[in-house]
Amino acid sequence: MEDSFRCVICGNPLANKTKLSARYCDRACRNKAIDLRRRQETLRRRNENERVLQEFSMWMAGFHLDLLRMAPAEAGGYRLGLWTGQMMYWFPSLLPSQVYRQTLHRTRTQDPFFSLHPFEPPIVPLVAHYKVQFVQNIPPHPDLPESDKAWWLKVPYALPHRRLPFNLKAVPREKR
Ligand SMILES: [Zn+2]
Repeated sequence: MEDSFRCVICGNPLANKTKLSARYCDRACRNKAIDLRRRQETLRRRNENERVLQEFSMWMAGFHLDLLRMAPAEAGGYRLGLWTGQMMYWFPSLLPSQVYRQTLHRTRTQDPFFSLHPFEPPIVPLVAHYKVQFVQNIPPHPDLPESDKAWWLKVPYALPHRRLPFNLKAVPREKR
């Protein structure tokens, strides 16, 4: 009972005039709460990446070998295409305003593709089938021509993506 009338950050009693819904005594405590939430989010993401790296290490090792087997000699990276129901959307996704992206190992890169050497495991927003596209190892890393047969593979994990320009729910069932 008493608790609901105290600031959840510093524990000071809330002034009588504050709204019943108020949880912080002042702006500083409110900002502290926002900061705290942000830090928790960073930590949660880090843990989530760690979990995926551990839980799917066998799948990644197998995928790495498949990539090396399938990649043309001049390939330096790969991208994964998701059929959204209307178009192919490619990962990693770098929005026009975005210069850097984070890898699964939480390093920063400007590459608009996943690296082959060293192997960079993919980050995708949905457990689904993705089309593999190799890119050349020399800038500006153009797409390499497809081999005789398109290669689709299922990525068995997903990580949250911010601001995708399409609805993940619209991805057709047969691609899941
Ligand atoms: Zn406070």
